[in-house]
Amino acid sequence: MARQALAALGTSIFPEMTRLAVERGAVNLSQGFPDFDGPPEIVDAAVTALKAGHNQYGRSMGLPALVEQIAAHQRRCWGIEVDPLTEVCAFAGATEGIAAAMIGLLEAGDEVVLFEPYYDGYPATVAMAGATARVVTLRAPAFRVEESALRAALSPRTRMIVVNSPHNPTGRVLSVEELDVIARVCVERDLVALTDEVYEHLVFAGARHVPLATRPGMRERTVALSSTGKTFSFTGWKVGWATGPAPLIAGVQRAHQFLTFCAATPLHAAMATALERFQQSFFTSLLAEYTARRDFLVDALRAAGFSPIVPEGTYFVLCDLCGLTDEDDVTFARRLIDEAGVAAIPPSVFYTHAKEEGRRLLRFAFCKREQTLDEAARRLRAWHASRPRERAT
Ligand code: PMP
Ligand code: GLN
Repeated sequence: MARQALAALGTSIFPEMTRLAVERGAVNLSQGFPDFDGPPEIVDAAVTALKAGHNQYGRSMGLPALVEQIAAHQRRCWGIEVDPLTEVCAFAGATEGIAAAMIGLLEAGDEVVLFEPYYDGYPATVAMAGATARVVTLRAPAFRVEESALRAALSPRTRMIVVNSPHNPTGRVLSVEELDVIARVCVERDLVALTDEVYEHLVFAGARHVPLATRPGMRERTVALSSTGKTFSFTGWKVGWATGPAPLIAGVQRAHQFLTFCAATPLHAAMATALERFQQSFFTSLLAEYTARRDFLVDALRAAGFSPIVPEGTYFVLCDLCGLTDEDDVTFARRLIDEAGVAAIPPSVFYTHAKEEGRRLLRFAFCKREQTLDEAARRLRAWHASRPRERAT
């Protein structure tokens, strides 16, 4: 079952677009990884951990120092109390956490509600667990959670709802009202919520990240995922974690122990140092830098004829292609690489039902250096100027 479902999902779009960007020498605003390093002190902490002999298997659920720091982070940032030893599990990235949660918490035949557009890891890991995805569309351009659409996706087999906020690829940050719709449904139906909060610290002025676990009745039924990749700009380290109630974390751990057992020990040790050392003032300056990058790219895209949907969070901006081209997103993304020398992600791959909606969108990542964004803006401007008569009406 998983074999066929995974074959149908094909190759993830992220490495595919990065490969094209590298081959064609395009500025890569497709796959979401920073083209700069995180704080050098954290790299130093990794070197120290390597030299200090943190080079063997560690505790499967996460090194004690790391789980302590994750618990402290949850308390400090979100007022959520978790027991570090039984309510935290660390992985090889949030990606492994998603898989461990699906495999460890679902039975074959269970149904999982996903909101589309979705991160492509969700449908893939639902399939690995032998479960079935029930997909609810967040409609452009508002991408709001509608209670009637959510309820229409439920059945007696529903076991889990996956909630990603701040949301990749739309940049939406769910409001408390939307979270409460989800919370009510979870409580009424006794469902588990798997929340993907990897962009928890990338929320721009005007929006606020509220963890679903803090809403009524949700603490005991929410597994929350996060990752070092986004907040500390080390996506290649693949340090992720889950927090939640002990019985659910035990389920996740039962899968994790056989997926990887434990992740790269020295990097987990370094992340413990990072979480201890880099707190609110670091998050504040990270956000200021990302606000400037977001505003710059949004302006550059507008100047090149795109209609960007200004993100409330994450480091992605979706653009509506209306008025720019009649082509679908995949064709246009390929042409943009060839003609403009800029790579972006065609989001139709993140849809099951409303693929047509995805075909009218394109996602750009702005987790890039100023020079990279400058060069992308210059190329987009030149491309736009070279094609006035070609423009769709
Ligand atoms: N969830 C979302 C929504 C993401 O965008 C990503 C991407 N990088 C991940 C999970 C994966 O995180 P990690 O790199 O820690 O595996
Ligand atoms: N999350 C990243 C993105 O959305 C990609 C992660 C990956 O390549 N697996 O671009």
